[in-house]
Amino acid sequence: MNLSILYRGPLASCNYDCPYCPFAKRHDPPELLRADRAALARFTDWVEATDDVRLSVLFTPWGEGLTRSWYRDAMVRLSHLAHVDRVAIQTNLAARPDWLVEADPATVALWTTYHPGQVTRERFLARCERLRELGVRFSVGVVGLPEHLAEARALRAALPDEVYLWVNAADGHRYDAEQEATWTALDPLFGYSVRPHLSLDRPCHAGETAVSVNGDGTVRRCHFVAAPIGNLYDGSWRAALMPRACPNAVCDCHIGYVHLKPLGLRQVFAGGVLERIPAGWPERHR
Ligand code: SF4
Ligand code: SF4
Repeated sequence: MNLSILYRGPLASCNYDCPYCPFAKRHDPPELLRADRAALARFTDWVEATDDVRLSVLFTPWGEGLTRSWYRDAMVRLSHLAHVDRVAIQTNLAARPDWLVEADPATVALWTTYHPGQVTRERFLARCERLRELGVRFSVGVVGLPEHLAEARALRAALPDEVYLWVNAADGHRYDAEQEATWTALDPLFGYSVRPHLSLDRPCHAGETAVSVNGDGTVRRCHFVAAPIGNLYDGSWRAALMPRACPNAVCDCHIGYVHLKPLGLRQVFAGGVLERIPAGWPERHR
């Protein structure tokens, strides 16, 4: 049995100040940080103990996790567990990546996002270079806003071909055919992001072989369907896993629609579903 878990604890603060983000420069009070740390410790213990399942974990904090020692420590610890196939996190890559020297590079991976205006391209590229030296798998992404285009092109030109650069369609932004082609020249898979996917009543791996878990262990099929289906810590998650159809009209976020069965994206991203690296990149996607 294989199960992918998207974990999101209470943490909602970030060191960056992106104009398109509700968590920009938010500060969490000490008691919330303590709660986040305790919740992550509980989750990490659960992963370690649940060795009858092959587990893959993606941390999807509201804010930035890697500036907190407990996320770095959890990733190192989980990366060395024999029943864990992947442990990845969404990050702005602000924290120095040297801690990854302690992690198993066969298991650990990063989903990184470049935020122009928050960090220089040079500094971001230096972080990417360090990840390459460490042999850590990572993708790099940008939000496809018109004001990011020049930086996105420069980033793509500076990154080695082996590094996949994804582009997320910006929330509430419409792309005409020319704009879509412009961004597709940078990310050949941009077409999956540019329009929401109709998902109502369509079969989805979410709730069957992928789930969303929050700090208190509540299990949902994904981050986008609010109804709980069980809890991690009372064992009820096991009986909850079953083939399911999506109850939402649309699914417009990669961490969701990558599991929508009719799209077949688990094949497109085979081996890199959680960290968003396409299979056979770059050869199969030219
Ligand atoms: S780095 Fe991410 S979490 Fe932080 S402000 Fe920017 S978009 Fe928000
Ligand atoms: S299609 Fe998207 S919203 Fe619907 S269940 Fe799957 S991941 Fe969740």
